[in-house]
Order: sequence, then C-alpha cells, then structure tokens
Amino acid sequence: MSSLHKFFVPKEQIINKRLTLTGSDVSHIRTVLRLKAGDSIQVISDSDKWLTVKLVEVKAKEVHGEVIASETINLESPLAIHLGQALTKANKFDMTLRKSVELGVRSVTPLTTERCVVKIHRTEMEKKIGRWKKIALESSKQCGRSQVPIVAENIQTLENFCRKNECQDLKLVFWEMEDTKILKDIDLDVEPRSVAVLIGPEGGFSQAEIETVREFGFQTVSLGPRILRAETAPVVALALLQSRWGDL
Ligand code: SAH
Repeated sequence: MSSLHKFFVPKEQIINKRLTLTGSDVSHIRTVLRLKAGDSIQVISDSDKWLTVKLVEVKAKEVHGEVIASETINLESPLAIHLGQALTKANKFDMTLRKSVELGVRSVTPLTTERCVVKIHRTEMEKKIGRWKKIALESSKQCGRSQVPIVAENIQTLENFCRKNECQDLKLVFWEMEDTKILKDIDLDVEPRSVAVLIGPEGGFSQAEIETVREFGFQTVSLGPRILRAETAPVVALALLQSRWGDL
C-alpha cells in the first residue's frame, strides 16, 4: 500500500487523466494536509483502480490534478456477505453499517422485525436510505474500498430478505438461544462464496421468526455463551465469517 493520502473520486469525474476535486476534499487537501501543486495523492475511483494523481493547481474551491499512474486492485472479499440487519436505534444502526463496510460486507438490508422498537414511517424511508447510502460511501472511502456496498432500496421484512437471498451458498441466522452450533461446526464440502446473515434487533428474534427463516433454509448459529449487544453481534459475525471463508 502506498503512503499517499487517499481520496475517493467517482470515475465520471476523471476525464482524459484530469480530475477536479471539490467540496470537503479541497479543504482537506489545503488546510489539513497542506498539500501543494506538485504533491501527489492516491485516488480511488469506483473502477477497482488506484490512481496516483499529481496536483497541478490547488485553489480555494477547487483542486486540479493529473493521473500519472494507475494500479488495479482488489479489496473485495472472495466471500460475498449479505447482511440482513434488524433496525436498531439510529446511531447503533449507523455504526453497524460503518463497521460492516470496514469488514467487507457486500450488501446491507435493513429489516423490520417483530421486536424492533424503531419504526420508520414510509415518508421518512427515502431520507433514511439516502443517509445510509451516504454512510456506506463515506466508510468505503475511509477504508479504501473501491466497491461501495449496496444498501437496499427499502426496509424489508424477514420473508422478503429470505426470498431475495434464497440462492446464497450459505444462510445463517445468529440466535442467542442456539446453544450447540457455532460457526466452526459448519462443515461444507465446497467453500461458500456467498452467505446471507441475519442479525436481530435489541429484543432479538421471536421463536416464530426463527421458524420462518428456518423454512427458508437458514441455520441457527451461536456467537458463544454470552449475549452480545445488537451492535456487537454483526461485527463479530462478519469478522468470523471473513476469517473462515473470506479475506481476514
Ligand atoms: N433479546 C436478546 C438479545 C438480542 S441481541 C436478549 O436480551 O436475550 C441482538 C441480536 O444479536 C440477536 O437477535 C442475535 O442475532 C445476535 N446475538 C447476540 N448474542 C448472540 C449470541 N450469543 N449468539 C448468537 N447471536 C447473538
């Protein structure tokens, strides 16, 4: 990895090897990093490339640069993890989203379940999803991922998530009442390349919900004898999955 400072710039903004940075990137370059014309930065575009960009002009509202080198990279895990996360209180859900992006999640679907205390009204949904997409983009940028994970277009029911993820190689529901099976006990002949993961809200899943998802082929798995908080469970689950079949 290069020691240059990294910026995320959508590839549409790079034309003929020239690019213009605007907004918060400009103040970051000028006042925080104090970079000048002639200095280089690393630019991650959404096309799996890291570009070395030499700054040509550093102005008050715009920074112009020129691509001087390009390198193909892959920061995406060979295991595509699709997280179905029940809605938790606002800042907790935001945190789960950030941490999941850092841990290489492929998609995150917010779910509404029986014991969710958080209710998001239909009229607020678009705004919420927009905010989560922004968080996914910012977190990707911060951790150097070139592919921004997908945030589902709407908050879904458990059944919906199960139906959409029917084709994944492995389907797991993390359940604190499961007292025998942990991830290590899952023995597959072929390494899974995709996994759907369900994590419940603060109040957990109901027995009926567990039965429903089992019918869709989800296996219950334990994260150990202690009950983890709703914001801890997805971080641990993702780390374990990446360590077992992914890139961690
Ligand atoms: N209501 C429960 C805790 C829910 S914790 C209680 O207080 O007893 C929120 C979610 O984290 C759960 O729905 C589950 O998906 C996950 N989780 C927490 N601890 C877990 C454990 N030990 N094993 C498996 N999943 C766990």
